[in-house]
Amino acid sequence: MAPQPKVLTPRSLAVLAVGLVILGILTVNRLASPPAREELLTFSGPTMGTAYRVQVIPDRQSTDTAYAARLSAAIEETLESVNQNMSTYSPDSELSRFNASDGEERFTISEDTAAVFACALEVAEASGGAFDITVGPLVNAWGFGPNGRHQPPTDEELTALRSHVGYQKLHLDVEASTIQTIDAALYCDLSALAKGFAVDQIAEALDELGTGRYLVEVGGEVRARGMNQRGEAWSLGIEKPVDIGRELQRTVRLHDVSLATSGDYRNFYEQDGLRLSHTIDPRTGRPVAHRLASVSVIHPSCMYADAYATTLMVLGPDDGLAWAEDHGLAALFLVRAGDGFEERATSRFKDGYGDGQPGSSGGTIEP
Ligand code: ADP
Ligand code: MG
Repeated sequence: MAPQPKVLTPRSLAVLAVGLVILGILTVNRLASPPAREELLTFSGPTMGTAYRVQVIPDRQSTDTAYAARLSAAIEETLESVNQNMSTYSPDSELSRFNASDGEERFTISEDTAAVFACALEVAEASGGAFDITVGPLVNAWGFGPNGRHQPPTDEELTALRSHVGYQKLHLDVEASTIQTIDAALYCDLSALAKGFAVDQIAEALDELGTGRYLVEVGGEVRARGMNQRGEAWSLGIEKPVDIGRELQRTVRLHDVSLATSGDYRNFYEQDGLRLSHTIDPRTGRPVAHRLASVSVIHPSCMYADAYATTLMVLGPDDGLAWAEDHGLAALFLVRAGDGFEERATSRFKDGYGDGQPGSSGGTIEP
């Protein structure tokens, strides 16, 4: 017998209608409820005398443990390599071997170290020497280097050390990846931008592994890409520069950019009522002396953000603000005022991140 053609009886039509209504309710409900948090992988540990923390939204199931292990290995290897190249704390790093050499020969460095030297010299030139990686002997003499002893140098010691400071004494050949100086006592310190560079390198390694959503942080310098686990831009806190404890000044939302902060509130000691912090003004040979407590810079490159934040910390609240404005930087200065802090923001910062009023948090700017 030939099969009967299927027809919709009134009864089956009613069942179908009820089914569609139920499906409709379920769909609307699903759309109305907040999106579920996505999975977040976190990698953290000590590095460069501080700590790192990398958060990644994996683009595949975390049950793929080999994938998480690959991310972890890439992060560790990157940090290890930056340390091996640029640490002044490790005597056999590339940088320490250059610092210990008599300088006359061309000294071959890795491409990475050459890229960091190139950035350092560019910012030194642009800032009239406020940023200067050859301040190393002064950083050490004031007790902020390896084997740091918080004991200010005498005036004679300062004069002698200053004669070996000056980025003009350093010659970099990027093509050949070499550095050279005729001053055997020249001593370079890349601490002001190496953490930012490490952040950029980790971000690049994650990009290569195909993860487009992450927040990378090394010692307070950060870079964000894509959306967080709630599908929003990554939200970052800028600390209130208080000596004890941690307080929040404001939050900013980062869209594929980096944020670096320099300040005088973590690494300092007091001498005769003066706060001596780890940022040295190469023009005086002494720790900076002004009311600027911290400055944060937002820039596509974390290495540049890091170098600029240190530069502005040297230039101070007035000259620094003018310089940042001239150079189109998004920067927020927190200046000591009475018992609290006054916020001063460049127009690029205000446009992207709020009106410069404490606590306000505006939109975001793209790089
Ligand atoms: P942090 O390490 O707290 O993020 P910075 O990025 O500002 O702070 O780096 C500060 C370090 O930079 C100092 O500890 C010192 O090693 C080095 N440094 C100090 N003064 C200068 C300067 N004028 N130019 C370049 N590097 C500097
Ligand atoms: Mg810096």
